[in-house]
Amino acid sequence: MNRLWVRLALAFVLVTISGVGIFGLLANWSASQAFSTYIARQEAFLSSGDLDVLAAYYTTHQSWEGVGAAVPGPGGPGRGAGRNRPTLLIADASGTVVFDEANARVGTPLSTDERARTISVIVDGAIVGYVVFEIPAGTTTTFTPTQQAFLNQLQLALAIAGLIALVIGIGLGVIISRSLAAPLARTAAAAHAFADRDWAQRAPVSGADEIADVARAFNTMADSLQTAETARRNLMADIAHELRTPLTVMQGNLRALLDGVYPLEAAEIANLYDETRLLSRLVDDLRELALADAGRLSLQSREVDLGGLLGQAGAQFAAAADAQGVRLDVRAAPARVRGDPDRIAQALRNLIANALRHTPAEGTISVHTEPLMGSVRVTVADTGEGIPPEVLGHVFERFYRADKSRARASGGTGLGLAITKAWVEVMGGRVGVESEVGRGSHFWFELPAV
Ligand code: ADP
Repeated sequence: MNRLWVRLALAFVLVTISGVGIFGLLANWSASQAFSTYIARQEAFLSSGDLDVLAAYYTTHQSWEGVGAAVPGPGGPGRGAGRNRPTLLIADASGTVVFDEANARVGTPLSTDERARTISVIVDGAIVGYVVFEIPAGTTTTFTPTQQAFLNQLQLALAIAGLIALVIGIGLGVIISRSLAAPLARTAAAAHAFADRDWAQRAPVSGADEIADVARAFNTMADSLQTAETARRNLMADIAHELRTPLTVMQGNLRALLDGVYPLEAAEIANLYDETRLLSRLVDDLRELALADAGRLSLQSREVDLGGLLGQAGAQFAAAADAQGVRLDVRAAPARVRGDPDRIAQALRNLIANALRHTPAEGTISVHTEPLMGSVRVTVADTGEGIPPEVLGHVFERFYRADKSRARASGGTGLGLAITKAWVEVMGGRVGVESEVGRGSHFWFELPAV
């Protein structure tokens, strides 16, 4: 009962049968309606004395000429009323129409059917004329044997039509539901397979627009779930890898110290200490990203003067830039944005530290702000090595390093840009980069202006 084809077939059959039924009822009703007005007018005519008026007219005039004036006026007895009001005809003794209310039949003979229904006008025992009520054209009366037979036939035809509707309805229900339900069933099968971790499973897009839309929506959802699943697996592998490297180094060094291979000196212990710092930075960074993902990064959002932050960052990196022979040019124009000052300062430090790491001696790093529509852009531009176009789209991804060995040796976790992006986005801003190999990179972030 709950199957699509059964419901569709029932719907088709119901609609057709009710159509046939309503048609039959209306036909019957209109026929009996016409007949009852006919009977009503005839009876009213007979009881009104109008027949005597007509007989008197004939007696006076000895002809039917001008009888129209003697016929009862509108609304008078026997006129009947309503849309299907039967028309009054008067015929002479030979059966030729001499008066017609509708003015269409004068001069024509009465039909056989009409002759059978006449009311005779009798003067001195002789029939001088006939009165007959025409049955309105276009309506069916049911009461002569031929008409009754016709009606019976009509009812039989309607019953047969109902039966045929039943068969056609069931047939159509099966055919249409098959074509509707088959693509749905395929989408359901794909969804079950996908739930069983068959990540490559997709639904075939076919059928009516709405059903094809369901398949498309499922496929889009499957795509993003598959991407998320791949990202999750990669992240797990990356984290394991990143944790293993410093641990292996520490373990090896400790073993060597224990075995007396390395002397127990402050320099060796300082190396080990550096590795633990790298580890804890990695763990802190991962925690920041996990919080940002969960939407639980706590922000102390307020009005911040970017000029001040740029000045502080410039002062912090001045010595390192000097030592590297790089010119650090900070233009700290006042610009007010909304955000968490500590996170903005850390984002700025990440970008400047990256620029220093990738800019050789004699190079320049310039840091400046630029007011835009509704926001302020901070740009850190360097004249360093630049980033190849095929890599550019990935630098904000977690654990992405263009040059793996070098970045790691210089203390990079491959998370700095990912964290910068997460912070800036949580503050309602966005990040970006333009770069050209050999000419340098422009990293920027925008924050909502106050
Ligand atoms: P890392 O800790 O390795 O620096 P980041 O997320 O900060 O990680 O940067 C990701 C990668 O983007 C870096 O490994 C580096 O290859 C590239 N990169 C970042 N900043 C610059 C820059 N200013 N010039 C060239 N390459 C850069």
